[in-house]
Amino acid sequence: MKSELQALEDSVVVCRRCPRLVEFRESVAKAKRKQFMDWNYWGKPVPGYGDPEAKLLLIGLAPAAHGGNRTGRVFTGDKSAEFLMRCLHYVGLANQPNSDFRDDGLELYRTYMTPVLKCVPPEDKPKPDELTNCFPFFEEELSILANASCMLALGKIAFDGCLRYFRMRYEFKKKDYPFGHGNTYRFESGMELVAAYHPSPRNVNTGRLTYEAMIELLEKVKLLSKIR
Ligand code: SF4
Repeated sequence: MKSELQALEDSVVVCRRCPRLVEFRESVAKAKRKQFMDWNYWGKPVPGYGDPEAKLLLIGLAPAAHGGNRTGRVFTGDKSAEFLMRCLHYVGLANQPNSDFRDDGLELYRTYMTPVLKCVPPEDKPKPDELTNCFPFFEEELSILANASCMLALGKIAFDGCLRYFRMRYEFKKKDYPFGHGNTYRFESGMELVAAYHPSPRNVNTGRLTYEAMIELLEKVKLLSKIR
């Protein structure tokens, strides 16, 4: 599994299929943010990260402009990562409460995280054709991560990406699978899909998503994934 993931990662990081996103990720990497001027930004697609034997998959939208697009690792180096990693560490799914840069020692336990879109989109708003372009990478990741039994979708776009994956395999109406924090759906394969608010500063600062609510949900998905 590890070598298959590595092969996938090798093809993801050189992808230039979406001209608008290639232009954006590289221009962000060039302009940089003031506080990160001494960084050599990644500026490329960001593949998934975690345990190849994962039972739990955390699905995000896309790398953040000055997070994953800077550091080269998903949920790394931004406020969303800070919130998420504290929660993952609290419930025993991460060995440390921080995710700051590649090679910072972060290890995920039985957990793998990946975005449905591997490049940062302007204003975090991907276009439908960009999501379509990137979908085969997501599908391939899921087929490699064969031990997974639960997917936690962080935010509506990630959730829709997961539903798209299941709708290509099973017949159901999307309207019967509404997004809502904690909503849980089980598919014929036995895979559970759980929806969550994205741990973005907007959701956290407004109190829409609290540490307590996220920890409660992570405890639930741990049980669904049969992670001890
Ligand atoms: S979003 Fe996906 S398909 Fe588009 S350029 Fe990035 S890696 Fe390639």
